[in-house]
Amino acid sequence: MLATLKRIVQEVNGAGDLAETLHIIVTRVKQAMKVDVCSVYLLDAAADEYVLMATDGLNPAAVGAVRLARGEGLISVVGETEEALNLDDAPTHARYHFVAETGESHYHGFLGVPIIHHRSVMGVLVVRQEDKRRFDEDELAFLLTVAAQLSGAIALAMVNGGIRSFNRQASGDGSRPIQGLAGAPGVAAGIALVIYPPTDLDAVPDRQATDIEAEIVSFRAALEAAREDIHALEAIMGEALTAEDQALFRAYSLMLASPGLERETIERIRAGNWAAGALRATIREHTRVFEAMEDPYLRERASDIRDIGLRILARLQQISSTRQQAFPPNTILVGEELTVSALAEVPLECLAGVVSVRGSTFSHVAILARSLGIPAVLGVSDLPVTHVDGTELIVDGYRGWIYVSPAATVRAEYERLISDEKQLTQGLEELRDLPAVTTDGVHVPLYANAGLISDVVPSLRQGAEGIGLYRTEFPFMIRSQFPGEEEQRRVYRQVLEAFSPRPVTIRTLDIGGDKMLPYFPIHEPNPFLGWRGIRISLDHPELFLIQLRAIMRADIGLNNARLLLPMISTVSEVEASLRLLRRVHQELLEEEPEVRLPPIGVMVEVPSAVYMIEALARRVDYLSIGSNDLTQYMLAVDRNNSRVAGLYDALNPAVLRALAQAISGAQRCGRPIGVCGEMAGDPAAVILLLGMGVSNLSASVASLPRIKRVIRSFALAQARDILDQALVMDDAGEIRAYLASVLETAGLGGLVRVGQ
Ligand code: PEP
Ligand code: MG
Repeated sequence: MLATLKRIVQEVNGAGDLAETLHIIVTRVKQAMKVDVCSVYLLDAAADEYVLMATDGLNPAAVGAVRLARGEGLISVVGETEEALNLDDAPTHARYHFVAETGESHYHGFLGVPIIHHRSVMGVLVVRQEDKRRFDEDELAFLLTVAAQLSGAIALAMVNGGIRSFNRQASGDGSRPIQGLAGAPGVAAGIALVIYPPTDLDAVPDRQATDIEAEIVSFRAALEAAREDIHALEAIMGEALTAEDQALFRAYSLMLASPGLERETIERIRAGNWAAGALRATIREHTRVFEAMEDPYLRERASDIRDIGLRILARLQQISSTRQQAFPPNTILVGEELTVSALAEVPLECLAGVVSVRGSTFSHVAILARSLGIPAVLGVSDLPVTHVDGTELIVDGYRGWIYVSPAATVRAEYERLISDEKQLTQGLEELRDLPAVTTDGVHVPLYANAGLISDVVPSLRQGAEGIGLYRTEFPFMIRSQFPGEEEQRRVYRQVLEAFSPRPVTIRTLDIGGDKMLPYFPIHEPNPFLGWRGIRISLDHPELFLIQLRAIMRADIGLNNARLLLPMISTVSEVEASLRLLRRVHQELLEEEPEVRLPPIGVMVEVPSAVYMIEALARRVDYLSIGSNDLTQYMLAVDRNNSRVAGLYDALNPAVLRALAQAISGAQRCGRPIGVCGEMAGDPAAVILLLGMGVSNLSASVASLPRIKRVIRSFALAQARDILDQALVMDDAGEIRAYLASVLETAGLGGLVRVGQ
């Protein structure tokens, strides 16, 4: 059963659309379970009905036509209970509902399991048997596993037009967002432009051909070039080839010469797809035939076909790279895994939004998008990326939502939000040169988070009083080996000079977890709890010492660097770091008498640091709370995992109590303590942080004006009262709602309304 399951999953993953996905499921399951019927019903939420979407065994004409109101029949029982229903004689069940169109009167055995994705029931997978049949435990387990494993693929296919194609009135799609992770704040509407890695055929999007004849000419030329490549390869290899290899080359040549490949692709181009998309679809269809074969040798041929497809694609790309890529004025850049360089290729004036299937809030692309002020959503695993090119998208970078072909009501709502936001931004610009002081005159310095040199200029423009967190891992990531001391010194110097005399907090290397260096791979089963941040630096003093020397040398004559140690979980890590720092300082003093030991701080981002706050504070000059990690470690929620993203909330009362405890502990020791996680950029959270007595805030550049507005709107005493109210609440949702009302009353509703 496991092998069967794997094959079904593999086939489904290669399916083009919903109909095909479901067809594969019903036919393969029927075969594997030796039943008379296998069907899938999906819930059409707008009509509140279960629709028969695919069947192998019932009357095919019933597909799309049979609809069961929610509450009707055994399908609804499975949906309501969210449990399997196993009946040897279905018609005797009290809720049995006879449907004439399916011709199912004579079926007795029934096994239905719910299809559940992200906690909600999407539909029901059901098998039927003419005779009375009680399905055994293994069969039940198999069907449950199929439904659980394929719910994601079904959800993905549903987004792509799914039920709509059977029911024109259904408004499910376009009015429901696809959930991803908030990457960069803001809202944008525009046209999707899908980019894909040149070596990934499956990622090639469908795209409307602008000149069909030109596409056909390009495809024919690419096909011919690929044929020549194979002949040339065969000739070069010549005698060296074994009989088996020669057979393989012959098979390749035959496949390339197959009239089917050429004809079918050209038919697809004539139907409107561009050459690369048409090629992908043809190759996919051919590979599927082989993948479905029982014979393992023949099944393997699928990979040969894929290889051929890639060869033609490579030639196609060479041919079309001479044509200039056109960017629509409101480009929403979409990709399976967008890179910083892909983003940099789009002219900034055309770039409205960024969407990536993989990645998280903390990916490079998200950080770059934030510093450019471009809304971004990442980790949108349910986005049918190959089918959205050229479609209208709405990107909600606050909530991490994407709407594909948004419904008119959604579009209108977002147009309003976009215009509100424009007004808000204009209003906020006036704040740029005003100080970040509360209404009772307390200055709460506002710093910017940075990681790329490109962050520095916008930070200065937004009136940041310094850099509160310079993530040094980024200059490390964009190189092919560890940067040397002089190279690092130059990078740090640039930032220090740009901000001088304002302070720049340089955090030592914080790799591990989800931040990897391509040249220093770490494979661990549990990376967030593993070798990360300071743990790596202390285990590799030869690398750490270079970084410390580079920072201290960069600071000479400017004296505005501050050093920050990430992922501190014990006092001994601070002491070991301090020993190395003092040693570097002593050594450098011999060469450079002006060199200074910069102020040293530790990140409070692990629960143990909260409980040891005073012991840590006594050993350093300042502290900085990393609320991103603190939230993830307090709540045991991976900050990058979209499945548990609903649990990740810095306003969780447990996190708030930890923050309050850390801040008061640092205060007792007379040490300044700031917050540099994303929480410092959340207007609602900032009121609470002010109430806790935070010494400074460091946030992404785009959120600075809003935060300044909040600081300038409250007195400290007022913020303390609000904090007291919030701390008696037990639930993050309640706290957020309360803070939204506080902001509303203060006339700052727009700050959160736009972002909600
Ligand atoms: C944090 O954890 O809050 C933080 C600022 O550091 P990073 O996001 O780089 O882990
Ligand atoms: Mg962190």
